[in-house]
Amino acid sequence: MTALSHRITALDESATIKMAQLSRDLKAKGHDIIDLSLGEPDFDTPEHIREAAKLAIDTGYSHYTPVAGYPDVRQAISRKFERENGLRYDAAQIVISNGAKQSIINTVLCLVNPGDEVILPAPYWVSYKAMVQLAEGEPVVLSTTISSDFKITPEQLQAAITPKTKLMIFSSPCNPTGSVYTRSELEALAAVILQYPDLYVISDEIYEHINFMGKHASMASVSGMYERTITVNGLSKAYAMTGWRLGYLGAPLDVAKAVDKMQGQYTSAANSITQRAVIAALEGSEEPLRNMQAAFLQRRDLVLSLLKHIDGLKYNIPQGAFYFFPDVTAYFGRSFGHHQITDADALCMYLIEIGGVSVVTGSAFGDPNCIRLSYATSEEVLKEAIRRMEKALEQLT
Ligand code: PMP
Ligand code: GLU
Repeated sequence: MTALSHRITALDESATIKMAQLSRDLKAKGHDIIDLSLGEPDFDTPEHIREAAKLAIDTGYSHYTPVAGYPDVRQAISRKFERENGLRYDAAQIVISNGAKQSIINTVLCLVNPGDEVILPAPYWVSYKAMVQLAEGEPVVLSTTISSDFKITPEQLQAAITPKTKLMIFSSPCNPTGSVYTRSELEALAAVILQYPDLYVISDEIYEHINFMGKHASMASVSGMYERTITVNGLSKAYAMTGWRLGYLGAPLDVAKAVDKMQGQYTSAANSITQRAVIAALEGSEEPLRNMQAAFLQRRDLVLSLLKHIDGLKYNIPQGAFYFFPDVTAYFGRSFGHHQITDADALCMYLIEIGGVSVVTGSAFGDPNCIRLSYATSEEVLKEAIRRMEKALEQLT
């Protein structure tokens, strides 16, 4: 047996990716599985973006790019930040990476020293905790419930801060709860953060455009927070480009330079072809984006109407992203055949094996009472998936 490092043996496998792989494996063996585990749009990437990438291939964009990305692409991102978020980041403050996931780990590795505490409002996105652990930081999890729409309060934040606190990481719209912080809620959190000059925030805004509440609010645009915030975004969700791998951040110049140095040793840069498609995505026709947004809202409402018939589930009404995060504690202690529902993990295994529906356990997101289901799939598939879930859950006694 190879003596692998403690770093990797202690690392949890990504639960979202694990469930998606389990679904693929079961499907390959002939099982009929509906996969609501992986959070990715089912749409094709809009045509004008695909055309931009094809042109890049045919016109010789085949070399390494500058580590932080092509200057004109960073300028397009700079314009996006100003236009959509009211944020002024120069191109030098922007670093493009292979997905928002890499933007986040780059930042965590640049800011967190061993032993530093990192506040994670829970439910949090699955990889934040693993990233903090990779940096040998200490995750400090702030629990929330449906009653506060899964959002933390300023008092909760204040109580969690210690002299070791370095960073807070959160997403709004939130994966997995779909909760969206309003500007005034962000201002109230900022009032606490600004009392601590060494405390930074990674504001993960990857679901910015899947927001049913109206205008998106960026933490960095709250008075005083610009110097404390690393704003992360990307193309995966809004433009249905998960496989293209393109994320970016805007940050104070010293943080952006540190991330550039880190990335120079890790991956050199993001993919050149994908980078050339960024300008088309950010500055081309918005029609495909609007159509996808409308479809997500319609699906959210459909799932809401279907879940109403399942008595055991309690949930908030998601205002963004494309997930439901129901509390499933009503089923704990029940069983069917050899399936004992001891916790949310067991319920997920039951749902995939007996119901033929793949979802992700809430424990991966810091809430062991819930499960996450993604509704980024067609209405037809959603209807069948919820029908299966309902049937499987009814069988539990
Ligand atoms: N942050 C959140 C909250 C996410 O759900 C995801 C998953 N796609 C990411 C970051 C990473 O996205 P990307 O595909 O850009 O790496
Ligand atoms: N972010 C998506 C999710 O939460 C994709 C999987 C991943 O990157 O973990 O399902």
